Amino acid sequence: MYYSSGSTSAQPSAPAASFLRFQRCAWCKSALFGSRCICPSCGGEDLVWERSHGTGRISDYQYMPKKGSAPRLACRVVMDDGFHVEGRLGGCVMPAPAVGTVVRFERFVDGSVPVFVVCPPAAPRR
Ligand SMILES: [Zn+2]
Repeated sequence: MYYSSGSTSAQPSAPAASFLRFQRCAWCKSALFGSRCICPSCGGEDLVWERSHGTGRISDYQYMPKKGSAPRLACRVVMDDGFHVEGRLGGCVMPAPAVGTVVRFERFVDGSVPVFVVCPPAAPRR
């Protein structure tokens, strides 16, 4: 499910939309994606906006067929900041990356749908 940001800005406006924002509950420290009024974990009303670090891991994905073009890959990502977000995987999506692959937020499309790209694997340490 996508949460529309609306004009109250769950996410920054188009030109500056180069990062994800989320809310953190001041009471239980739960991280929440989308604009909420009440924490679903503890019922707290003191939610503070924070800027995400932008990286996470794919927890699930599904190909979404699109007439006349290559299928899109819808993915669910567990962000390193502790919240879950649904979006799309950009770039080449065939074959699909494995669950657990590290991805990075790249941009928004269609208003508020986050697009992620696969991060290159870390160089081996010597
Ligand atoms: Zn809470």
